[in-house]
Amino acid sequence: MENCLFCKIAAGEIPSTKVYEDDEVLAFRDIAPQAPVHVLVIPKKHVSGWYDAQGESDAALAHLMRVAAQVAKSEGIVESGFRVVSNCGPDARQTVPHLHLHVLGGCGMSDGMA
Ligand code: AMP
Ligand code: ZN
Repeated sequence: MENCLFCKIAAGEIPSTKVYEDDEVLAFRDIAPQAPVHVLVIPKKHVSGWYDAQGESDAALAHLMRVAAQVAKSEGIVESGFRVVSNCGPDARQTVPHLHLHVLGGCGMSDGMA
C-alpha cells in the first residue's frame, strides 16, 4: 500500500535490520526498542490490523505466529521468557497501521496490561 511505512520496509525501500525473511513474512529490529530484544514481525502483504486480517488464510496467520516463536528462539529468549504484543487501533496505541507482532524479551517485564 502506498505511503505505508512497513510496506516500504517490506519492499526494501526503507532500510531495516532484518532478523528473518521469507516470501510472506519479514522480521526486523524495532527502531526504538522497549526491551533488550524488540523485533517486529510483519506480513509482507499489507493488512492494517487484526480485524482486516480476517480476510487472510488461517495458514498465513499461523505462519506469522510461528515466525514470532522462531524469532524468540533465534534471539535466545525462549527459556527466559518473552512477550508477543500486537496493538490494534487507537486505544491500543497502534501507530503503524500495518499488522505487526512485537516480540519482546531479554528483561523482566511489568504485570500491567497483560
Ligand atoms: P505500534 O505502536 O504498535 O504500531 O508499533 C509500531 C512500532 O514501529 C514502534 O515500536 C516503533 O518504534 C516502530 N518503528 C517505527 N518506525 C520504524 C522503523 N523505520 N524501523 C523499525 N521500527 C520502526
Ligand atoms: Zn502496509
